[in-house]
Amino acid sequence: MGEQIVSDIIIVGGGNAALCAALTAREAGVSVTVLECAPPEYRGGNSRHTRNMRCMHDAPTDVLTEAYPEDEYFADLLRVTGGETTECLARLVIRESPRANAWMKSYGVRFQPSLGGTLHLGRTNAFFLGGGKALMNSYYAAAEARGIRVFYNAEVTALTIRDGKFESGEMLLNGRPAEFRAKALVAASGGFESNLEWLEEAWGPAARNFIIRGTPYNRGRVLKLLLNQGVEQIGDPTQCHAVAIDGRAPKFDGGIVTRLDCVPLGIVVNSHAERFYDEGEDLWPKRYAIWGRLVAQQQDQIAYSIIDSKVLGRFMPSVFPAIPAGSIGELAGALNLPPERLEATVREFNRSVQPGTFDHQILDNCRTAGLTPPKSHWAQAIDQPPFYGYPLRPGITFTYLGVRVNEKAAVQFQTTASSPNLFAAGEIMAGNVVGKGYLAGLGMTIGSVFGRIAGREAALAAAR
Ligand SMILES: Cc1cc2nc3c(=O)[nH]c(=O)nc-3n(C[C@H](O)[C@H](O)[C@H](O)COP(=O)(O)OP(=O)(O)OC[C@H]3O[C@@H](n4cnc5c(N)ncnc54)[C@H](O)[C@@H]3O)c2cc1C
Repeated sequence: MGEQIVSDIIIVGGGNAALCAALTAREAGVSVTVLECAPPEYRGGNSRHTRNMRCMHDAPTDVLTEAYPEDEYFADLLRVTGGETTECLARLVIRESPRANAWMKSYGVRFQPSLGGTLHLGRTNAFFLGGGKALMNSYYAAAEARGIRVFYNAEVTALTIRDGKFESGEMLLNGRPAEFRAKALVAASGGFESNLEWLEEAWGPAARNFIIRGTPYNRGRVLKLLLNQGVEQIGDPTQCHAVAIDGRAPKFDGGIVTRLDCVPLGIVVNSHAERFYDEGEDLWPKRYAIWGRLVAQQQDQIAYSIIDSKVLGRFMPSVFPAIPAGSIGELAGALNLPPERLEATVREFNRSVQPGTFDHQILDNCRTAGLTPPKSHWAQAIDQPPFYGYPLRPGITFTYLGVRVNEKAAVQFQTTASSPNLFAAGEIMAGNVVGKGYLAGLGMTIGSVFGRIAGREAALAAAR
């Protein structure tokens, strides 16, 4: 075995949860080492793609309007998860979110009010000035200034755990085997969304057509190591955050700019040019995260958003241009859809549209009648050329299957109680809070709160 790294605390991962844990542990005076599997230019995992986090507050703040109290936050979470949450951990995340915010500012993270054209989040979500990349750069600069060692190209490949206690581990460091040893370990290595084989085990061959919106490095290796050594699993492998994204996005790391927000403003058809779901069921922030799954259920995992020129400028476009056409038949040709079928679908939809006052900011009264599936809001005839189409694919954001933890972020074993020195934070344990559905901005709140808890508890464990 090559190099040997010894540290009071080892943090596996290099995203938000990892750096929150590393900085918090360092505050306690212990030595901290971060092992990030990506090279420096790709450090920061999915966290570098983010824009905001959801925060509880009882009165307006510098960047958040009105109030968003604990009970409302928790009620929102209960609604989207259908109860698939652990109440004490969820409430802990919610309650700690304002403190996490203040702590983040102390490490150079800056917030700004909600961006225009986003998902109506001005009351609930604090936006990172400069986005997730600026946030991660602030954390890495702070880590360097405080003497935290960071190894890049460091992929953890094995963990030795005896009687529930972490002892040592192995990794590939710049492609060469190396060892590490520590008094405590924090696993903050993300979900398994970039492991296409694992996704295929859960979803079948459909997974081959999924696009991964974030880092290619979250392959679930550490998650599997922990589960294989008796750590209790939480969540279902098919549950994840999946949105409909532009079908022309790259296989990995396309980030936020490939998302498509025009679904409620037109119709969505599958490869048979048939509609399959109510595009206007509810406000888009409450529905955007179901469309990845809906598209995944269609033949060849592809669908098409069809709009006309009336709605241009009313949504944030994808980085790819919309495909234009002078007629619906021509658009069908450009999208490789059966032209007569698409014309019939649009004709039938247009005929069913009821008179109303269009307002895409509220649940307006523009709806269809006698159409299956209905369009409950924002239904306007698609009749003003040029017409436009966007191909849609399931875009996987992150998976929910993870390790069970307690309120101290300690991983739980199937047989015994919690580990005395093995902690988890971020995506790898997010399923404890969100087992199904999603609330925009929750991922970063879970990682920030549990990252800090894991760092604090790891430092305590190292001092014991
Ligand atoms: C496009 C996009 C936009 C998003 N926008 C938002 C948003 O605005 N708000 C929000 O709350 N959430 C958002 N999310 C979700 C959010 O990114 C995650 O919830 C959050 O970043 C998870 O943080 P994390 O630290 O657990 O994981 P990550 O930031 O993904 O970090 C995991 C790290 O582990 C490393 N790693 C993996 N395996 C190993 C290994 N074996 N050895 C060593 N290191 C390893 C990876 O390289 C990576 O650095 C978004 C996600 C995407 C993809």
